[in-house]
Amino acid sequence: MVKSSPKPPQRKRNSAERRRSRMRRVEDKRSPDFRDLIENGVQGVLIHSNFKPLYANTAFAKLLGYKTPLDVMKLPLIRSMVPPEMWAHVEEEYDDLMRGEKKSVITRVRAIRRDGKEIWLSVTERVIDWHGDKAVQINAFDISDQMAVEQVLLKSEQYLRAMLEILPYPIYITRIADGQLLFVNRKTCLLFQQSAGLLLRSKSIDFFVEPQERENLRLLFKTVRDIRDVEVKMKTAQNREFTAEIAAISMVYGNEAAVLVALNDISHRKQLENELLHQANTDSLTGISNRRYFLAQAEQEMRRSRRFARSLSVMMIDLDHFKKVNDQHGHAAGDAVLQGVVKASLESLRQSDQLGRIGGEEFAVILPETNLEAATDVASRLLTHIAERPIIAYGGETKHVAIPCTVSVGLAQLEAKDGSIDDLLHRADEALYCAKKNGRNRVEIACK
Ligand code: GH3
Ligand code: MG
Ligand code: MG
Repeated sequence: MVKSSPKPPQRKRNSAERRRSRMRRVEDKRSPDFRDLIENGVQGVLIHSNFKPLYANTAFAKLLGYKTPLDVMKLPLIRSMVPPEMWAHVEEEYDDLMRGEKKSVITRVRAIRRDGKEIWLSVTERVIDWHGDKAVQINAFDISDQMAVEQVLLKSEQYLRAMLEILPYPIYITRIADGQLLFVNRKTCLLFQQSAGLLLRSKSIDFFVEPQERENLRLLFKTVRDIRDVEVKMKTAQNREFTAEIAAISMVYGNEAAVLVALNDISHRKQLENELLHQANTDSLTGISNRRYFLAQAEQEMRRSRRFARSLSVMMIDLDHFKKVNDQHGHAAGDAVLQGVVKASLESLRQSDQLGRIGGEEFAVILPETNLEAATDVASRLLTHIAERPIIAYGGETKHVAIPCTVSVGLAQLEAKDGSIDDLLHRADEALYCAKKNGRNRVEIACK
């Protein structure tokens, strides 16, 4: 194989150049291994002056599809190796190097082989002394395979973005380290009421109502790869708060550890759920707890009182001769009386007392932290308050009527013998029966 050997250009030199040239020859003689390394090395080496090839090694010739280095050297200029659109840039870089503005340049460039095929090269360019003259040495190796892989990755990332963009849910990608938003789809912009440009300059923490919730998610991702159905409080750019249900998966996005988050504004659903729950627990006529919910609350209070050894009393309330109200004024007026009794009862009770409707015209109250003595005071107050004010109801033809109303109350305090809340309520019920029997509009206390 014919190998090109570095030849000095044929022109007159000054003494400094001659000295440098001699030094180089001496160095060449001293290290033939070094020369051999370049000539037979795997990296392509090309030396040129103003794009006129001065030297090429075998690897460079092979890289660019030439049989021998001599074929490269025969080229008047190495222009044919550079895609035309790159020329201006390549020339600019050459000038920078020659002027000493840059010491060396490392780039990835496209190059054209002799057969016209394009390849990607990783190129290092630097200025050298070439037998007394300045020249540029290019070291190059083929990175076409690596670039092909990167192109595929880029395409798959573009594909991912396109797919996320059309999904009808808000989706964003955030950098794990600092929460910087790296991608947002159109629905995310709509949800947060912010343009994509501004969102991409924000961090996800800006949209959390409780910063700790975002921190908890970040810590969670140290141990898990994905999460689902996590509820967090978020806010829009205009500070409208909403409950978001989040699903997220860790991923690598643009070489960075990131998390892809899909979220859903579930505020409306939450509100409906709360309304349904309220409806399920509430008596529709009076708006207080219904029997089922009252008993559950009473059960809970009883357990709490037992645990903390606190007193607890219950009150059973029954309207006196209520049947007559219905008979005289009609069912609608009867309903108004029930509502009036509830209103008057609530006015007489304390914040901590809980009133429930446990039957047609029967009510019960849980009085936490209350012994019989205090409960009797509350019951007497309630009794008086109801008896003192007739309830104004719509009485059909007679229009509004004032209906006097009284109640009877049975009281019981939680005792050790009460096995369940039913036992306690049963004793209060017995006391209520006594109140009825003893003339109504009165309070009776259950026997211990
Ligand atoms: P007592 O003093 O002994 O308790 O007599 P009372 O008439 O209040 O008792 P009774 O049990 O005989 O009658 C209860 C009445 O309450 C019968 C029922 O029609 C009426 N009632 C039950 N639920 C409702 C309701 O939701 N609305 C109306 N308007 N009446 C109801
Ligand atoms: Mg009754
Ligand atoms: Mg009654």
